[in-house]
Amino acid sequence: MQKTVMGKTGFEVNPIGLGTNAVGGHNLYPNLDEKVGKELVRTGMQNGLNFIDTAFIYGEGRSEELVGEVMKEENNRHDMILATKGSHKMVDGEYIHDNHPDYLKQCVDNSLKRLQTDYIDLFYIHYPDNETPKYEAVGALKELKDAGKIRAIGVSNFSAEQLREANTDGYVDVYQGEYNLLSRDAERDIFPYAIEQHISFVPYFPFASGILAGKYDKDTTFTDFRKNMPHLQGEQFIKNLEKVDQLKQIADQKGVETAHLVLAWYLGQKPIDVVIPGAKKPEQVLANLKAGEIKLNEKEWHAIDRIFK
Ligand code: NAP
Repeated sequence: MQKTVMGKTGFEVNPIGLGTNAVGGHNLYPNLDEKVGKELVRTGMQNGLNFIDTAFIYGEGRSEELVGEVMKEENNRHDMILATKGSHKMVDGEYIHDNHPDYLKQCVDNSLKRLQTDYIDLFYIHYPDNETPKYEAVGALKELKDAGKIRAIGVSNFSAEQLREANTDGYVDVYQGEYNLLSRDAERDIFPYAIEQHISFVPYFPFASGILAGKYDKDTTFTDFRKNMPHLQGEQFIKNLEKVDQLKQIADQKGVETAHLVLAWYLGQKPIDVVIPGAKKPEQVLANLKAGEIKLNEKEWHAIDRIFK
């Protein structure tokens, strides 16, 4: 697999990374088996994957701990580009977001412990708060970068305006936001600025939580947080499945999996260097890694674009 450079971070990454909210993310998915979670991370690492995305909130620290355990067992910390996120703070039994410089520094120290490492390659502010000026929040991360605790600065779920404020001093390396064929606002709101500023855009929910991987049908039901997602319910679900059917036809003509076609389509966009599909089984990780081998020609890229315009 050919590696690519991730924007101005200089990180050399396999463009197919791994999202780990289903690795120890017990607060998001019921009945997760941690052994399977560790195994899917290990399988990826042993098969050329080097970009791992986690966060404190995935299992309230448990995802980070499990990823840290696998890295220790595989003795491969220095081969991995490890991204994590923080901002959630428990107050009176509920999570709020806190971007105060002191709190972000605390988040990084806690993540370092859970991941059993002395540096984090990419630390994102997971969500904005309403109080902290965004350039001050990012200023705290710049101090941590200078101190060697983190190597690159990211923000996630910031509005276009908050991103600009965060990047006042040009310190933001990576932006992570929701983006997939069914949810394309970022093309208008974030992409132009990201391209101009050489900020790498990491799309989350690349499979729109599974539907774009092409294996759901009208009888599929959900028991986890997906049961509240409008695009997976009722009429909208049926309409989206019809679009996925058109996608499947293009995949069949090309002799590839629908899931691979989707990932390759994202990687054909300027600000996107790496994708982080989630997985619940090692086989899905192995399957997704194959997407890195697929190249779309312009005709194919536009045909997919039109289905979901
Ligand atoms: P996703 O990538 O859109 O969907 C992942 C799901 O698709 C898997 O759990 C699996 O679900 C299915 N799948 C994956 N590979 C497949 C394959 N090859 N064939 C068939 N089905 C396949 O959703 P996500 O995992 O929620 O999001 C990706 C990552 O983005 C997360 O893990 C997390 O790291 C990150 N994220 C970040 C934020 C943020 O606020 N920054 C928010 C959400 C997510 P089933 O097996 O159940 O079908």
